[in-house]
Amino acid sequence: MLITINGVKRMYKNYVFFGLSCSNITIRFLLVLSLGVLSFTSAATQIDGDKMQQVVNEAYAKFKDVKEGANANYIPILDTVPSDLFGVVIVTKEGKVYSAGDVGYRFSIQSVSKPFTAALIMAQQGPEAVREKIGVEPTGMVFNSKVAVELYEARSVNPMVNAGAIAAVSLVKADNEKQRWELINNNIQGFAGEKLPVLEEVYKSEYETAWGNRGIANNLYNYGRLYADPEEALRVYTRQCSIGVNTLNLGVMGATLANGGVNPLTEKRMLPAAHVPELLAIMATAGFYDESGEWMFNAGLPSKTGVGGGVVSVVPGKFAIAAFSPRLNEAGNSVRAMRAIRHISGELGVGLYGPNPEL
Ligand code: GLU
Repeated sequence: MLITINGVKRMYKNYVFFGLSCSNITIRFLLVLSLGVLSFTSAATQIDGDKMQQVVNEAYAKFKDVKEGANANYIPILDTVPSDLFGVVIVTKEGKVYSAGDVGYRFSIQSVSKPFTAALIMAQQGPEAVREKIGVEPTGMVFNSKVAVELYEARSVNPMVNAGAIAAVSLVKADNEKQRWELINNNIQGFAGEKLPVLEEVYKSEYETAWGNRGIANNLYNYGRLYADPEEALRVYTRQCSIGVNTLNLGVMGATLANGGVNPLTEKRMLPAAHVPELLAIMATAGFYDESGEWMFNAGLPSKTGVGGGVVSVVPGKFAIAAFSPRLNEAGNSVRAMRAIRHISGELGVGLYGPNPEL
């Protein structure tokens, strides 16, 4: 297994390092002790492929009959997506894939696109641009909150909610709308490692009903917190949300972050490694909207959800878990996808703050 090989490589490097200074009995004793600890740590962090496939299968089987929640319907076309679809995938930082269910079905990316456009700004202008011109605090409010825009001085507050994501689209440095769209689209395709279509029917359905987001865009502009023409920002943002992805694509996008910003399939660097932790921090605090605290409490993984039913979670330095199912809970998060990822995180013990088995 590649992960196993990597684990051994890490142990080997440490051995050479300690071996260089191994000149007397005390140091030899320390060496043996250190290697013991390293082997233990290494064994604890290695997960073999069979185990990954097993937990993916388990998560799929355990939650496939859950019928709780409902498709999003404020974007009319999302209500027509077959509700029983369900896919679960792990993609490792080496690009190995473990999947179950409908992982090839194409759905609209919606808000799962948001961290990747934030990544584009970080790559283009540095993370400070995100902090200063958008913000990095969680709102604690619903994803499309207008109250948050009024309440917080940062206005757009953070790039994982609608206001911050529309601001992010407007902040991308571009000469015109066409170039803005191409930069954003190419960036998302770069994270996925393949060409992705725009689901034109989704775009039409959302743009025709985007009165709330239009209000947010105009209000941000009024406060000097939108950096392009509001209607242009709204169009490009809505197009970004209408990109068609499958669960596997989301897995690769997450695996690119798990791999320090390099797409494991194309080997293309999408984000400087130094900015990956900042992006993951925003995902951890705001990726599940006003349920982010609950999510980190349970699953402990930086993640992003979307009203299309997709969720991606990142185990930094190791792999991504992605899942898709259209029925959402009250907060707008996919019920089955959440449960599947939470189950896998617990079974593999990969929560950021320590092993986190389900009770
Ligand atoms: N396009 C959706 C909106 O603006 C995205 C929301 C989401 O996925 O959370 O409402």
